[in-house]
Amino acid sequence: ERDRLKRLRYKPAVTLDGQPIELLANIELPRDAEAALEAGAVGVGLFRSEFLFMNRNGELPDEDEQYQAYRSVVEAMKGLPVTIRTIDIGADKPLDRASGPESRHDAVLNPALGLRAIRWSLAEPDMFLKQLRAILRAAACGKVRILIPMLAQRSEIHAVREALATARQQLDAQGVAHGPVELGAMIEVPAAAISLSMLMPHFDFFSIGTNDLIQYTLAIDRADEQVAALYDGWHPAVLSLISSVIRQCNDAGKSVSVCGEMAGDPACTELLLAMGLRAFSMQPAQLPAVKQRLLRADTSRLDDLLQSLEGEDDPARAWPVLLRTRAVAA
Ligand code: PEP
Ligand code: MG
Repeated sequence: ERDRLKRLRYKPAVTLDGQPIELLANIELPRDAEAALEAGAVGVGLFRSEFLFMNRNGELPDEDEQYQAYRSVVEAMKGLPVTIRTIDIGADKPLDRASGPESRHDAVLNPALGLRAIRWSLAEPDMFLKQLRAILRAAACGKVRILIPMLAQRSEIHAVREALATARQQLDAQGVAHGPVELGAMIEVPAAAISLSMLMPHFDFFSIGTNDLIQYTLAIDRADEQVAALYDGWHPAVLSLISSVIRQCNDAGKSVSVCGEMAGDPACTELLLAMGLRAFSMQPAQLPAVKQRLLRADTSRLDDLLQSLEGEDDPARAWPVLLRTRAVAA
């Protein structure tokens, strides 16, 4: 079994019909980069930087500490791209109580709809600039991409771009080395998926966060056991959002990946391939299972299948057909 996995690691991720697929890793701490390489990932598709900020007993990492952490991942990945998501704090990922601004949290009824992720960063501009400077500095050591979580508003897009320009100017003024970065947006709020054309011109790449996209589309708290049975990535509303984002990105020639749990679920591999997805980011442990699936998939047949479903205007009828036919491609 171990040998089989090892062989799989060196096998290029290409479908039966010759489509190359990018398999990327989700990591939480710098030390996870090793597991990403071992699994055969061709880069980090999601570095959840908030884990550097959590459980700190009140003291958050300064610019230098962050820079060291980001740089260590960039160096560990040996030239492969590293996608660093800016802090996604709040809701299911609280900073500890003592760490300041976020203690307002307690008084809030719906933290998942509150001051989290990019909203938190824009409310704490000094913290945000510190993080952006640390990432830009790490970009001098390798290929780095910045990913912004939870975007949904036009004002946020502009504030992010402005902050990035300011961070660069500050480094220039100090004579500190920094490198080029691509800027990407997480698509995880339904509004962002529906209004993708608003975001499209401002970002180099997109990554679909299915964990939150499911939560917000279905109004199901992703952490609430009592409604866990209703948390369903195969709901036609969720699938049509995912599919539409992938299609629009492919049409616009912008790179798009899925970095939520669906990307690492082998039961979703053919479906996502059929939607046109060519980049998947997942926990390193999931990589072999997903690779095995895609090695046996024929996207030309999946494409035909999707096309035949396009005339079907009731997604609730179309998707079950796809589901049933899915087995044919496997
Ligand atoms: C997501 O929402 O799908 C995602 C990848 O981000 P997180 O799980 O960290 O919220
Ligand atoms: Mg998310």
